[in-house]
Amino acid sequence: MRGAWPGRTDLLLECEEKSGTEGEESSFATMEKQAVEKARVAFRSGRSRPLEFRANQLKELKRFLNEKEQEIAAALKKDLNKNQYDTTLYELLGLEGEIQLALENLEQWAAPRPAEKTLLTISDEVYIQPEPLGVILIIGAWNYPVALVVQPLIGAIASGNAAVIKPSEVSVHTAKLLEEFLTQYLDKDLYPVVNGGVPETQELLKQRFDHIFYTGNCAVGKLVMEAASHNLTPVTLELGGKSPCYIDKDCDLRIACRRIAWGKFINCGQTCIAPDYILCDQSLQGQIVEELKMALKEFYGEDPKKSIDYGRIINQKHFKRLSSLLEGAKLAFGGECDEALCYIAPTVLTNVSPQDKLMQEEIFGPILPMLSVGSVDEAIQFINQREKPLALYVFSHNKKLIKRVIAETSSGGVTANDVLVHFSVNALPFGGVGNSGMGSYHGKHSFDRLSHLRACLVKSLSMESMNAVRYPPYSQKKLNWARFFILKRVRMGWLSKLFVLAIMTALAAVVLQLYFKRD
Ligand code: NAD
Repeated sequence: MRGAWPGRTDLLLECEEKSGTEGEESSFATMEKQAVEKARVAFRSGRSRPLEFRANQLKELKRFLNEKEQEIAAALKKDLNKNQYDTTLYELLGLEGEIQLALENLEQWAAPRPAEKTLLTISDEVYIQPEPLGVILIIGAWNYPVALVVQPLIGAIASGNAAVIKPSEVSVHTAKLLEEFLTQYLDKDLYPVVNGGVPETQELLKQRFDHIFYTGNCAVGKLVMEAASHNLTPVTLELGGKSPCYIDKDCDLRIACRRIAWGKFINCGQTCIAPDYILCDQSLQGQIVEELKMALKEFYGEDPKKSIDYGRIINQKHFKRLSSLLEGAKLAFGGECDEALCYIAPTVLTNVSPQDKLMQEEIFGPILPMLSVGSVDEAIQFINQREKPLALYVFSHNKKLIKRVIAETSSGGVTANDVLVHFSVNALPFGGVGNSGMGSYHGKHSFDRLSHLRACLVKSLSMESMNAVRYPPYSQKKLNWARFFILKRVRMGWLSKLFVLAIMTALAAVVLQLYFKRD
């Protein structure tokens, strides 16, 4: 439904006043356009660039997270039945950590980065200057609806950009909250929140951006990329897919299952890097089922429906999609579905076949199928026959086996003997590969992703003789000199640089003698 968003009204009225008798449709289109235009004008004013401004905005963002923690928790409770500890633990703390890291390192990240020189550039300034790209469009998904827009926003602010933020309309309460409060803390022209559904997002995608940062499913990812291609806008696509989890025979199954149960069933399985399915030897399945059962009982009690720590499916549409996956399936345990509450119990299935419906799409819910593989070779083959996953998990005491799985497969990220936690290490780039996405972020990776790394070379107008080799008329002699100058890498401290500089000056004098001497 277009325009159903409280908070859109002010901007809409402003647009309607300007557009006079224009109809509702064009007013909304104008609104999206106007938000982007305002962001561009604000970016062009240059105010997002000074490091002090960036730091202040990041501090404001942190203040928003701290001061509105209760409101954020309440919105997430309504959207996903997350409890407040859950929200703080899995949405807010990570964001605070990212802000802290950016504040501590901003100066260093934004500083010119010295680049290696050749003999030809020994006396020049050669460096990489990160510079803001311009206006970034951030499109978020609903499963971690605060983190998935705020985390890229931290990168956008740190790298000096403007950003138009489009939260997911599916997590409706959180989207409204972001629109209402974020602009109270941040520069509202530089960082507007535009709410709405598919038509509004499509309208936004018609506008010109300098980067589009999209989180969501692969099908929409393709639409985003297609829209971006009209303006040759670069994209980061944080997508999903089926993340496999291989459990080796040489493994502590109790520990492995505790960790898997945690990662699979938090947020009711609606986590992009949750293990999607388990691969293991047939003989392990019974024990794994028992261990998972025990871990789930410890986490959520006898009846997860009554646990304040167990979430709900985001909406009826996703509930129906998930419950249809269970039709005719042989359950090891779980399977209880309550449509009115969007509740699906933690569910485990054994002896699932690769042809089953469950294995044809990303599950993205609290359903964990197990498939038999006879060996690690078979597991590797199984993984490699499918699209490259966003995450890959392997559990084993055997380090060699772990390294082998890592070496012989590909995925966005990999964690051994645990699940999800590579996401929380901000030194590691987070993102997909192949069908699970393109581009990565977190920490400095976000800064670099949303910066243009500009190649800078500053020469002086002296030492012209050094250029003799590049000017016609060419000769073998010049080519030999060129080979020497170009291929020699220079890695040295300032003392040796001075020495080389002296030699270069002497060489230059020789070259000058050879090529510039007119008879
Ligand atoms: P969603 O339905 O919230 O859609 C994401 C965004 O796309 C929304 O803002 C929505 O407005 C927009 N959108 C939807 N349809 C559109 C269309 N036709 N044209 C233009 N825009 C459109 O979220 P979702 O896609 O259901 O999210 C779940 C998927 O996202 C899963 O596949 C999950 O694995 C993936 N995901 C990935 C990450 C990651 O970091 N890689 C994180 C979270 C979720």
